Amino acid sequence: MISLIDTHIHLDAPELGGQGLKLLPEAQRCGIDRLVVPGVRVSGWAGMLALAEKTENVYLAPGLHPAYADQWNAAAASQLRELTQQPKVVAIGEIGLDGTVAIPLPQQEIVFRAQLDIALDVGLPVLLHARDATGAVLTILRELGIGQRIGGIWHGFSASIQVAQDLVELGFKIGVGPILLRENARKLPDAVKVLPASALVLETDLPDMAETPETLVRVAEKIAELRSASLDEVARTTTENAQQLFEL
Ligand SMILES: [Zn+2]
Repeated sequence: MISLIDTHIHLDAPELGGQGLKLLPEAQRCGIDRLVVPGVRVSGWAGMLALAEKTENVYLAPGLHPAYADQWNAAAASQLRELTQQPKVVAIGEIGLDGTVAIPLPQQEIVFRAQLDIALDVGLPVLLHARDATGAVLTILRELGIGQRIGGIWHGFSASIQVAQDLVELGFKIGVGPILLRENARKLPDAVKVLPASALVLETDLPDMAETPETLVRVAEKIAELRSASLDEVARTTTENAQQLFEL
């Protein structure tokens, strides 16, 4: 039986109507025995905690998504700091910059940096979200030495091989998700072929990018095909990589 870790799954997404935990038996059947749920909105953090308390294999990465950066204030900052003391909290996420949303990038950057500061203070890795802002996110990560100091995952990776290699050099893992399964995907398969095995982790980003937990197995199979490796090997290395980063 293979053992996989989904490093990015929104079990608490409003689209799932509170039924996210019902996906766990299927995940278990597919060999997905640990899952990390990233934060999106401040109002979702309490529900995430309740979800993790009800289950053994669900871990949390609370944080504020850049699309909701306007929810950030002193109360949110202290709430996030307190959350990091919970045993099931293994990272801060998903945080970063998003050039496609209405909130101005300078405002997003203040919130991104504030959350990076908390992660650095408490020594937790980060789950990064970067959309139409790759260069700006890279600059901040470099400036603060985030890769070497706490590490993290660049979630939903779809940038160039060059960016992937820069990230790996900086000490980050590459979150490989359902984009890899797209008929017209080019850059991601090329990157997956050449990156070191130690850099790859798996994610579904359900429900945005996948409908069923099983998609994670499809992604792992595709990685195996692209790298001429066995599914077992991909499962073992991606699980080890995630475990290196998170205390699961
Ligand atoms: Zn996400």
